[in-house]
Amino acid sequence: MGIEGKIVLTCACTGAETTKAQNPALPTTAEEIAEAALEARRAGAAILHLHVRDAAGRATQDVGTFRRAIELVRAKTDIVIELTTGGAVGDTAEERLRPIKELEPEMASLDCGTVNFGDEYIVNTLPVMREFAAEFRARGVRATLECFDLGHVHASRILIKEGLLEPPFHYGLVMGVPGGIAYGARELGAMVDALPAGAEFTVMGVGRSSLPSQFGSITLGGWIRVGFEDNVYYAKGRLASSNAELVERAARIAAEAGLGLATPDDVRKHLRLRGSAIRIS
Ligand code: ZN
Repeated sequence: MGIEGKIVLTCACTGAETTKAQNPALPTTAEEIAEAALEARRAGAAILHLHVRDAAGRATQDVGTFRRAIELVRAKTDIVIELTTGGAVGDTAEERLRPIKELEPEMASLDCGTVNFGDEYIVNTLPVMREFAAEFRARGVRATLECFDLGHVHASRILIKEGLLEPPFHYGLVMGVPGGIAYGARELGAMVDALPAGAEFTVMGVGRSSLPSQFGSITLGGWIRVGFEDNVYYAKGRLASSNAELVERAARIAAEAGLGLATPDDVRKHLRLRGSAIRIS
């Protein structure tokens, strides 16, 4: 389990719900996202978790908008691109899957259950999850199995048991969504204990959970996601100046724990992503 001596940092630079009113440095255009991706890569991120926005700054699953952002990111950096299929609150399953079908990215998120999201909610029934998993599998897209609660880990294991997902498994443990599991060392431990043997996990602490969850993840051998999708603050009352500033801090925390930073190619090899020299088809 894990990449020997190294940690994988993911940057979720935009998200679906964060606004420029919350942090003016939020990247929303394709150009801004590509620049943020380059800065995040230079700061040590190996994976970019990608959402895109329309001209008005609203979240969209429009394929052309994704394609343009991917092309600009690709022109600047070799960072692994992980597309969202979470979309925004209210998107249909078909809308959320379209970029996977048409763009066949290296990685994409796959939400493993229904969750309250503040006063909103995101619906992922088992039939919807099966549809997503089958599509990922058919196209060789590595899933990041996003779990917002302990039960979602168990739900993911139903898909595995049914043969809809293949190892290596990579989980995104999202902690601190209002309505999902809160971050706590014991809560994280319970989620990690429920993972299939050999699974990798990236902890995504939302809001004030972000910083403590980074230490918790390192303690249990996990990886870290930071970025404006999850948290716009550097410290209480002080906005982060950029996504890269949050990645830089995660890299420093990892360094103090004696960990190096995985490169995009380390991730491609370890998670057997498409395009990797050792991809098993
Ligand atoms: Zn996302």
